[in-house]
Amino acid sequence: MSGKLSLTFDDGPDPVWTPRVLDVLEEVGVRATFFVVATLAERHPSLLRRASGAGHEIALHCTRHLRHDRMTASEIYADAEKGLRVLGKLGHDAGDWRTPWGVVTGGTKKAAEDLGLRLVGWTADSEDWRGEPSKVMLSRLAPGIGPGGVVLMHDGVGPGSLRDGCGETVELLAPLVSLCRSRDLEPVPLGELSGVLPDRNPGPVAGV
Ligand SMILES: [Zn+2]
Repeated sequence: MSGKLSLTFDDGPDPVWTPRVLDVLEEVGVRATFFVVATLAERHPSLLRRASGAGHEIALHCTRHLRHDRMTASEIYADAEKGLRVLGKLGHDAGDWRTPWGVVTGGTKKAAEDLGLRLVGWTADSEDWRGEPSKVMLSRLAPGIGPGGVVLMHDGVGPGSLRDGCGETVELLAPLVSLCRSRDLEPVPLGELSGVLPDRNPGPVAGV
């Protein structure tokens, strides 16, 4: 029996890198989940329309890319609520939420509950923000590619990133999808992944 896992992208949409990520996903026939920054979504609505039209899931990352452990509960709520409003105005009804750096506090959980959002972390981290070659990232990810997995990548250059573009993430995608399929795993958007999902960053906070 084949299993499922999800490929996820944070920090977009980006006018240069998001289209290239979408191109590769289209070539390999994979739908993914994009955790978007609301201010960027507002600036590049056509990228979200393209992603959503291709069957990708639009989810919430943030309005301002800040760590929740340095925000009050009401600031966290306001940030998420504004992000949802912006996405809603653009026609996207986000149900999943990954916070900046996967930091989750009591205030985050309360805001998620109040806004009807599901918090989603990851199980396998490409650490693509480091700027390493795609082959290094593929080796890093390989042990964690299994059923129910949630793979973290970035289609934008967020704060703290050590690279100035997402070219290696674009390069990573086709080999990563091949690896998944060689293990009888099909990537699907998070909304189609059954079972319990990780709700936060599984390890020490790093990168973007
Ligand atoms: Zn981020």
